[in-house]
Amino acid sequence: MSGSPSIAIVGGGLGGLTAALALQSRGLDVHVFEQAEVLREIGAGVSIHPNAARLLRRIGLEEQLRKIGVPIGGVVLRSSQGDPVITPTGPATPTFSRGDQGYNVHRSDFLTLLFDALPRGAVALGHRCVQLEDQADRIRLFFANGATAEADVVIGSDGIHSLIQRAIGLQNQPRGEGTMAYRGLVPVERLPWASELRDPLLWLGSGRSFLLYPVARGKLINMVAFVPSDSDKEESWSAPGDLNALAAEYEGWDQRVQDVIRSLDETFRWGIYDRAPLPYWSKGCVTLMGDAAHPMVPHVGQGAGQSIEDAFTLAVLLEKCNKAEVGERLKLYELLRLPRTSKIQAFARAAGKLYRSEHDSPAEKALRLREWMAQGQWIFEHDAEKAAVDGLLDRTY
Ligand SMILES: Cc1cc2nc3c(=O)[nH]c(=O)nc-3n(C[C@H](O)[C@H](O)[C@H](O)COP(=O)(O)OP(=O)(O)OC[C@H]3O[C@@H](n4cnc5c(N)ncnc54)[C@H](O)[C@@H]3O)c2cc1C
Repeated sequence: MSGSPSIAIVGGGLGGLTAALALQSRGLDVHVFEQAEVLREIGAGVSIHPNAARLLRRIGLEEQLRKIGVPIGGVVLRSSQGDPVITPTGPATPTFSRGDQGYNVHRSDFLTLLFDALPRGAVALGHRCVQLEDQADRIRLFFANGATAEADVVIGSDGIHSLIQRAIGLQNQPRGEGTMAYRGLVPVERLPWASELRDPLLWLGSGRSFLLYPVARGKLINMVAFVPSDSDKEESWSAPGDLNALAAEYEGWDQRVQDVIRSLDETFRWGIYDRAPLPYWSKGCVTLMGDAAHPMVPHVGQGAGQSIEDAFTLAVLLEKCNKAEVGERLKLYELLRLPRTSKIQAFARAAGKLYRSEHDSPAEKALRLREWMAQGQWIFEHDAEKAAVDGLLDRTY
């Protein structure tokens, strides 16, 4: 085999579309197959922290990100009663990064931004992949609509219930963490006190927390309310939630928390799950990325960020790669990415435990939060592209 490999991406979510852009920016032939008939995202915010934003900047998306997003600074911490959390060095506002800028964005704005940056025809909508077949030196993809396609490399970016994961012989069970989140968006004009909100506001209480941050250039306020849950059945991002049940969870909390809940038109329940790290991600010329490879709980806002890191790593490794080298390049991808994402999965779990701890006061939580934010710079300051370039230079095979 010779020449650059052709690439099929299964799944046109945040990860799949970013991968298409990153691969294409390095001259690779790439097509995305997405099951949805029209692009849509759930009504919620997503944080693009500096480790992901700096990669997007390099393919010219900084200006568009700035247009749709709100820059992320520190997190302003409050007790459940709304008092500023004071530590010996002053009010607690742990920051996400010392250097580069990150952005809070609305998920659908971000998805549209990625889609619009791709050439027409790069994404085939209404294509639900149902089967892969390895045919000597090509992989054939079969879709529910009867269509087929062929590629040299298949990237499974098909989310937590990944078909591609099963197609390469893996099966991974969801692990709950005893919590669920209510999500919702409020137009800012309903919350006059939030019109100047820029940094995320996090209220810390016993067993639960309440997070707010602006998205859509500050026009909408994104709410995530984490509460205990003993339901381990539901693994959904978009089950409708009950506003009265949400209000009951935060009875007696700061008036602003109650204002937000009263201002919501609707809320969605989000089961908080991850899965144990997988033993491998690739088989032959098929690999995984994003939630298909490493779903994580959301407490450090890295689910999308890690899928963006995967995308840029794959782009470096597959550029100028002879088709015969693909298998080895995908092994290197796994070697570079699996340990880091596994560490972040564990870190996100630990962060969640701290937020909802019933034993620590808000000030104690703030101190520990600041400590781990400082340790967490290895997350936010990582340069996945550089790591991939170094990985290629260092390879011993
Ligand atoms: C409410 C919410 C808030 C979040 N907040 C944050 C945050 O602040 N920061 C952060 O970094 N992460 C956050 N995350 C996590 C983050 O959104 C995910 O980790 C990220 O979207 C993963 O992207 P993905 O492309 O791997 O998967 P997905 O976004 O799930 O996309 C998978 C795509 O594959 C398609 N698909 C599935 N099966 C097939 C098939 N057989 N054939 C074709 N197409 C298929 C699906 O339709 C979908 O479009 C949040 C998640 C949720 C739900």
